[in-house]
Amino acid sequence: MSKVNVVSAEIVPRLRLQLVASESISHGEIIVQGCEEEVQDHRTWRTLQVDESRHLRNEFLNFVDHSCSPNALLDVDKLALLAIRDIAAGEPVTFFYPGSEVELSQTFECQCGSSECLRSINGGFYLSLEQMRWTRDKGYCTAFMQRQFERLLGD
Ligand SMILES: [Zn+2]
Repeated sequence: MSKVNVVSAEIVPRLRLQLVASESISHGEIIVQGCEEEVQDHRTWRTLQVDESRHLRNEFLNFVDHSCSPNALLDVDKLALLAIRDIAAGEPVTFFYPGSEVELSQTFECQCGSSECLRSINGGFYLSLEQMRWTRDKGYCTAFMQRQFERLLGD
């Protein structure tokens, strides 16, 4: 598990690691395939939420940044990160954290540069109803989070 060494980035704030496409990726393609052995029962700032009590920790997914204009989404049934649009070589792979996580272990101020940037980022349960609807309509949420939003929205 030599990749685990890169967690030193946590204690060297100026060193930042992110997942970047090394070649172009087509809409719908699997970017990272996770597996059941990587599913744990608790959230950390490195996991992706699968459902109420399951969280995926994968050595590559660790380094997928948030964006308010993302290009990827976790398929919670396949445990796979999929491209939700074409991604050019050299482009960072991103997903919309509130569309994946009920809450975040650490909130942060987003600087993604999107014209639709939400600025203050927490989990999906902290979105306004309008933002939940926007997330769902944009297709930025996992099937699990879509069910949560639709319950809260009453749709
Ligand atoms: Zn943003």
